[in-house]
Amino acid sequence: MEISHFFFKYRGLTLMILICLGLAGCEKQSVTPKSRVLVIHQNESAPNEYGIHVEQLYHSTLQKYKLSNVEVRHYYLNTPQQIKYYTNDLKELKEEEWIPDVVVCHKDLSLGYYMRSIRDMGEKMLDIPVIYAGVRYPDENISPDVEGLPKQIFKHITGYRDNVDFGKNLKFFQQVTGNDLCTVITDSIAKYTHPTYMLLDKYLHEHADEYVNNLDCHIENLYTLDGQHRKNNGKMIVTAISFLYPQMNGKAGVRMMQYALATANEYCFMQVNYTAGSQVLLDRSGRPQMSVTNTQFNEKQKTRILGGYFVSLEQEVDDAIGLLARVLHGEPAESIPEKDHKAEYWLDWNAMKIWGMSYRDWKDKANIINAPLKVSNPVLWTLQTVLLWTTVGVLFFYLIYRIQKWLFSRRDLARRKEREKQLLWIMASKDSAVWKLDKDMLRFQSNIKELAPLCATPIPTEQFISMIHPDGQKAMREVIRFNATEGSYRTRFKLTLDNGQTYQWWEWVYTLNPGSLLFHRAMGRMMFVEETVKREEKLQEELQAAEETSLKEAFLANISHDIRNPLGSIVGFSDLLTSEEQFSKEERKEFTEIIRTNTNIMLKLIDDVVNVSKLQVGEYRYIKHAVSVSSLIDTAYTANAVLAHDNLQFEKSPGSKDVFIYVDFERTMQVLNNFLSNAFKYTANGTVTIGWEVKDNNHVYLFVQDSGAGISEEKKLQIFKQYYMGDEHHQGTGLGLYIVKIIVEQQGGTVGVESQLDQGSYFYASFPIYYGEK
Ligand code: ADP
Repeated sequence: MEISHFFFKYRGLTLMILICLGLAGCEKQSVTPKSRVLVIHQNESAPNEYGIHVEQLYHSTLQKYKLSNVEVRHYYLNTPQQIKYYTNDLKELKEEEWIPDVVVCHKDLSLGYYMRSIRDMGEKMLDIPVIYAGVRYPDENISPDVEGLPKQIFKHITGYRDNVDFGKNLKFFQQVTGNDLCTVITDSIAKYTHPTYMLLDKYLHEHADEYVNNLDCHIENLYTLDGQHRKNNGKMIVTAISFLYPQMNGKAGVRMMQYALATANEYCFMQVNYTAGSQVLLDRSGRPQMSVTNTQFNEKQKTRILGGYFVSLEQEVDDAIGLLARVLHGEPAESIPEKDHKAEYWLDWNAMKIWGMSYRDWKDKANIINAPLKVSNPVLWTLQTVLLWTTVGVLFFYLIYRIQKWLFSRRDLARRKEREKQLLWIMASKDSAVWKLDKDMLRFQSNIKELAPLCATPIPTEQFISMIHPDGQKAMREVIRFNATEGSYRTRFKLTLDNGQTYQWWEWVYTLNPGSLLFHRAMGRMMFVEETVKREEKLQEELQAAEETSLKEAFLANISHDIRNPLGSIVGFSDLLTSEEQFSKEERKEFTEIIRTNTNIMLKLIDDVVNVSKLQVGEYRYIKHAVSVSSLIDTAYTANAVLAHDNLQFEKSPGSKDVFIYVDFERTMQVLNNFLSNAFKYTANGTVTIGWEVKDNNHVYLFVQDSGAGISEEKKLQIFKQYYMGDEHHQGTGLGLYIVKIIVEQQGGTVGVESQLDQGSYFYASFPIYYGEK
């Protein structure tokens, strides 16, 4: 969740928290005013590199000691000439009434100048607690213009000393520079009486076996102008140069300074404290420079100092602020014992690089600053680099992925728009609707006024099915399950939009693509087809009527022919019998037989026609009872056996176990008679078999099988129709099978035929087996 969203959601709570924080903040401010701290540095004026660096250090260290309520002002002494201004600064402070609560002095010069300035500012200022840091000699009178020692002048004073360890520095100098000439820039301390000078002098005397004490410059020509320096039996020659007091060693000292200036490029100097003079010499040198003080160390732009054994600026500030915290918390400064800063070996990687020093060689001997991770911890650096590149790589691929997704989504959008366009097109047609099936809910969209109630809200499928005519509900349920395979479908149903008062025809057209996610939810089109269905029904009726008319016409043509023939015979032979001509007894018998046969034919014709009309108007009464199929078949066989002509073999199939059917005996017998008379008629030579078989689970098939003419596939569809006569050469009405069909169906059975042209036919009437009372 986005942060802004979180705050918006809980804005009441956030507001309360903010008010509480605000009140707490106000409370704090109103109760404790800010403590004022004046920090005096001996170094250059801000804002230079040192100023920025030390002020940042102050800021972070104050936070470390949780001194948030402190206002700090930094003052920088640049050169001795500016002391005057500095003094004015303090006066200005007083005029401004910005009286500090605590004063912190960094290094001897600051403390000295503060001592001197304070003299003119009244007794009261002496009450302000003073903390010093990086100061070497707070016990000495460090300002020549002031009478008395700092510890005597300030009532409340404590601090950290920065003691010079010349022993460690000289050794480190030699190790690092590989030089046996150490030229010390002493400057302001370069007086015989100065404690630092005396300390160095003393140290050199005590270690005369290692060092040549040249502080008095008795060896003048340390360097020749061609860059060669004097060897001194492996002993290191320690010489002092002072800009402030070049004459302190008489003419030799002045000459030494001149040499040093002229050949500074060859010197490895060691800075004892920072002055304008030390800066000039260090600037001119082309060799590694050391320092016993942190000043000018870690100045990134200049990289003057390679290293030394000294108190780091961080340490100096940390110690000072540690004391400041205690004093601000109410501890009297004078009650806090003075301590020594902790000095360490330091090297600056930026300078080391210049002099070709390896990190590995020095990392255990000194703290190396400014070394990049690649140098100080290659493993971590490699890991970090790999991580970075991996992140970049991941980000890159993620970006590509997003772009691709964006492109895809645009393509998808285009597709969706295209589909929407299609939908709109569909919707635009005024008698169709669009539907969509979505998790058992159907959604409709349409301009059709009548469909407005369907379109208002999504409709559960069952509700929709209930609006369909009962005849079509089952089929529609199947449709909605979309069990079908891939393809396009069309289905018609009658729908009511007025709670079942009226139903109208509608049609669904839809495409199924079950494998595709896109079509996972089915959708299609719904069209109003009432008019179409009516038109189609009318057409169908017309077609049927036309078919019947043509069949009737053919029937009339045939029947007139079929009636005229037997009638002709009857009339002709009757005339003969009644004529005066004399015929023998045999002849008369033959004529009578002909007349009888033709009369029978005519009777059959008339019977068929009458039967059909009776069946059609429903005048047939069926007197149904349980009838044994074996008796039915037996009777039919016996009655028809005499009718089979000579070229026929008429058989009765043995049949399976006798079963009963619930039918009208006479009518069913007529079915078998019709089957048999056809079989005899269309089998010129061969076998006709009558029989029954039990099939299809509880159904019995009464059949007549012949090995006669057979029926083509095309004809099979027609023969049970009224007036259909497939064969002009045989006598008939085209009503026999039609009558069979009606009788069987009206008694709950079915008729059918299996046949192959020139092979024979198998006509059957099947009835459900009757298990009721007999
Ligand atoms: P019809 O009085 O002309 O025989 P039917 O309705 O009984 O009329 O038969 C219709 C048509 O079916 C016949 O014209 C004939 O073409 C065909 N048909 C009926 N029975 C058979 C059969 N056993 N073998 C071959 N064709 C048959």
